[in-house]
Amino acid sequence: MAAALAACASTTSPGAVDVDRRQLLIVPAEQVEQMARVSFNEQNDKARAAGKLVTQGPEYERVRNIAARLQQQAPVFRPDAAQWKWELALIDSPELNASCAPGGKITVYTGIMRTLHLTDDELAMVIGHEVAHALREHGRERVSQAMAQNLLGSVVFGALQTSEAQAKMAGQVADVLLTLPNSRKNETEADKIGLELAARAGFNPAAAVSVWQKMAAASTGARPPEFLSTHPAHDSRIAELTAMQAAVVPLYEAAR
Ligand SMILES: [Zn+2]
Repeated sequence: MAAALAACASTTSPGAVDVDRRQLLIVPAEQVEQMARVSFNEQNDKARAAGKLVTQGPEYERVRNIAARLQQQAPVFRPDAAQWKWELALIDSPELNASCAPGGKITVYTGIMRTLHLTDDELAMVIGHEVAHALREHGRERVSQAMAQNLLGSVVFGALQTSEAQAKMAGQVADVLLTLPNSRKNETEADKIGLELAARAGFNPAAAVSVWQKMAAASTGARPPEFLSTHPAHDSRIAELTAMQAAVVPLYEAAR
């Protein structure tokens, strides 16, 4: 209990959007990042083998430039992000999805860009939101909660000597990271921090509203966005994003 309490802290500075909440973080960050790295590499190996990993061309350059501009702003919220080994995977697949695994491993699917016809500003909002989850260590928080509730069984972190045990653990952690939905609280934090990152990087904050309008419209179609299964939309989100504009418009104006 004492260890758990000692591990309660806020992972980021509040920023202009004022995000501040103590978090349950009983699993070491390095462990979660290691597992996320294994699962990110597996995903990319699989995509590469299928000829779906995009590593050049205009779409790749576009995503790379947007991600780089957002990454540059990440130290505003936590200085150590400047030392993260950021990586980007663009996967040619119709999924309406994007993610940023712990430690800065960004995945974007061409499906979300093409189907929603995302502008650069809107794509920056999606990636910024994902990066914000990573900066806030929401994945580590969810893994910690799963550990606390014993959802991860008896596996002990830090004692993963064999590659077999590591792969097994990576699979379990990946399940938690990829399939358990974020809480509404985490979603609001990611919206706020993502919006500020994007505004500071010179992307129009109004796009945070339009991208969720597009997401909402797509959710009633034949192929609802996979994004929504781990990033639940809530009715008041667009109103909240609209209310957040005032805090970040000056940052956007200053960055332009
Ligand atoms: Zn989210």
